[in-house]
Amino acid sequence: MASGTVERKAQVRAAMARYRLRHPDRVKASQEKWKADHPEEFRASQRRNDAYQYAKAPEKSADKKLARAARLAGRRVEKISRTKIFERDGWVCQICMEPIDRTLKKPDLMRASIDHIQPISKGGHHTVDNVQASHLLCNLRKGNRS
Ligand SMILES: [Zn+2]
Repeated sequence: MASGTVERKAQVRAAMARYRLRHPDRVKASQEKWKADHPEEFRASQRRNDAYQYAKAPEKSADKKLARAARLAGRRVEKISRTKIFERDGWVCQICMEPIDRTLKKPDLMRASIDHIQPISKGGHHTVDNVQASHLLCNLRKGNRS
């Protein structure tokens, strides 16, 4: 490829970036129109993005699912940082009171997980006050009991 073409491409990209910055509403409107005109492609792109986010950080995806389920159930939902909860609870499982090995990853059942003290299904909220550090196994055993 001639270097002139590469430069031209960079110029076009920069111009597009300036346009997006100057006209966020127009960009948004055209995105919405594309979504409405291409529902199948839009859903496919969402699925691709979900898969990508999941591959990058499976725990975060799990948290998003929890938060979404809580929101749909009409519970209060706060932004929860897993790391902050684990640090707060000293990396000790609040169900069995044994330490949690923070290096354990999926599919190890003793890996760290976020437990709802009062389960979402029993009216509990997805809030910092209602979650605690736990081993995944302890969390699963506890099930929907509070
Ligand atoms: Zn435990």
